[in-house]
Formats: sequence, C-alpha cells, structure tokens
Amino acid sequence: MSGHVISVLLFLALHQLLVLPVVAYTALSDNFLKLVPSGGDDFDIDNGKLLAPILIPRVAGTPGQTVAQKHFLNFFATELPEWSVEWYNSTSTTPATGNRQIPFANLVFKREPPWVREGQSNLLTLVAHYDSKITPNGFIGAIDSAAPCAILMHVARTLDKYVTQMYDEMSALGEGGTVEMDMGVQILLLDGEEAFQSWTATDSLYGSRALAELWESSPHPAMSFYRNPLDQISMFVLLDLLGSANPIVPSYIQTTHWAYKNMATIEDRMRKLGLLESSPKHPFLAEAKKHTFYPSGVDDDHRPFMARGVPVLHLIPSPFPSVWHKMEDDGAHLDMPTVRDWARIVGAFALEWLDMMEVEPKGDAGAAALS
Ligand SMILES: [Zn+2]
Repeated sequence: MSGHVISVLLFLALHQLLVLPVVAYTALSDNFLKLVPSGGDDFDIDNGKLLAPILIPRVAGTPGQTVAQKHFLNFFATELPEWSVEWYNSTSTTPATGNRQIPFANLVFKREPPWVREGQSNLLTLVAHYDSKITPNGFIGAIDSAAPCAILMHVARTLDKYVTQMYDEMSALGEGGTVEMDMGVQILLLDGEEAFQSWTATDSLYGSRALAELWESSPHPAMSFYRNPLDQISMFVLLDLLGSANPIVPSYIQTTHWAYKNMATIEDRMRKLGLLESSPKHPFLAEAKKHTFYPSGVDDDHRPFMARGVPVLHLIPSPFPSVWHKMEDDGAHLDMPTVRDWARIVGAFALEWLDMMEVEPKGDAGAAALS
C-alpha cells in the first residue's frame, strides 16, 4: 500500500470519526443546578446594568442603535475580556426609508478554546436581535428583544468562569484537538430583524440574512474540521419575545426536538428543586412529549441559517405575548420572575451543553459559589 493510499484511508477514517454526533453529554447535577445564577438586580428595568441601558428605541440608523452597540461592547470589554468581538456590517435600503442606505451591524461575541485553529471549534450559538421596531413611534421592544439580549449577556457571564477553568485544565493536560472537546460558545446579537414597513421576505431579517450569506461564502482553509462558520454552529438557539408571564414555547422543529427535550428536562428539574421563581400554569417548555410536527410558519432570524442546514432551537412563545408590537412592550410590562427564570434555564442548558460537569464545583467551593 502506498503512503498516499494510507493517508487517504486515514483521512476517510478520520472523516468517519468526524461525522459521528457528539456523544459526551452529562446532565448537570442538582448541586450544579443550584449554582446557576439568576442575574438578580442586573435585570432591574431602571438601574440594572444588563437591561436598563437598552430599554430605549434601537432602530438601525438611529442614535439608539449606537447606544445599544456601545452597551454590549462595554459589557464584554469590562466583564468578559477573554471573549472576542466581531462586527458584521452591511447596508440596505428599506421600503420606509427611500434611497438612503441604512447601516446594520451584527455583533458576535465568542469564547473558544485557546488552542484551536480557524474552523476547528464547534460553537453553541445563542442568538437574539437587538434592534427595535420603527413603529409605533417610541416603541421599546422589551420582550422584542431587549430582555433576550440581556439574558444572553448574563448567560455569557455565567459560562465564563467555568469555560475558563475547563480550557485551563484541558491545556494543562494537553487535551483538545478532537471535535467533541473543542467546544466553544458565541453570542450573536443581530440587527435589523424587524420590518420597516410590513413583514416580507426582503423587509425583515436584514442582519441575519446578511450574516448567513456571508458565512456560507467564507470557506475555512482546506482540511479544516468545519468547512465554514455556518458549519461550526453546533446549535443555533434563538431567543425571541421572552419576558412576559406564562409563556408557552412549543417544540417547532422535529430534527432538534432532542435538544428541546434537554432544555425542558432542565426546566422541570429546576422547578422540582424550587430553583425557579415563576409559577406558570404550564411549563415554559410544555412540549417535551410532542410526537407530531407541522411546519411552524413562525418566521424569524433562524430562517436564513436553517435554510442553509444549520440546526435550530427556536425559543419563541406561541401564541405571541399580548404586548407584541404594541407600546405596552416596555420594561414595566416585563414579568421579572419569568425573565430571571429564562436566564437560569438557558444558563443551565448552556453549561450542560458545554459539558461543564467536568468542572463541577465541589463541596465548600460549591457552597461558596452559591453565596
Ligand atoms: Zn418584533
């Protein structure tokens, strides 16, 4: 057998290895679930450092857009300096703004193993849009989607110390370099989700359409683990319209129902352990036992990604909350126990996804972390 044939066979064997699903998945212990923080006062609508600064109109091309961007950049720069930041700028005309090119900017905050080469890590991808709807005049969009953005900032903070510990330990042991182990996380804060006039395929999703297109046409170097940034997305978890009381988030997508069930199990366990504040009539994730799926028809930022084969978990209530696209969608109409519970549930889901039982705090360390 020639060396060439051997290397081809080796490549095929490796490739076979790569297409296997990630198998390492260990549920968080009860002890770890208890340590997942809620964000507390940081979600306060007047003074909380996560949410209050973005409870303003944030339409693309207006000063509020810049305020929101600075808020995100400042938070990551000061609290999570290990996270990289990438800007994805695009422009487009809209049916409401004539010939003017409106600037849209998606922000991507990413934490991945320090040893990875380009295209090597698989990335849990947590997503919300930060723009607000242009009408009615003065619209804030608290559930749509200031609160989801703030929740994701909090989740990033929750993950950071465990991710850091995990990467440090793996570096010390010389681990890494396999698909399962090279896990990271990225937060996509997308611009231009809202229509400027009325929702159509071209008047909506300005940011997500531009980003999905760009990533599809940005191949990684030959022999990279993943062929482009879309391919690196292990799960695209989209949060939208979250923060009203009594949400029911259906399981929309059969192929990722297993991930939905994992999150529903976390919610159920946290409720039974008394770790959640809200007492809804139904669980937030009420369809863990669903068997029959129909196309949902709920159009959102996941669409350009899902159309390109990215796995999606869509966290949006159905029916939509009653404040949807009304002036009442403001800070005062948020249900704070629900906001904090989403922060806990999504935080625990992300910790579990990233296999953080490997760095579970033990004994006194766990008790200390709780305080
Ligand atoms: Zn909206």
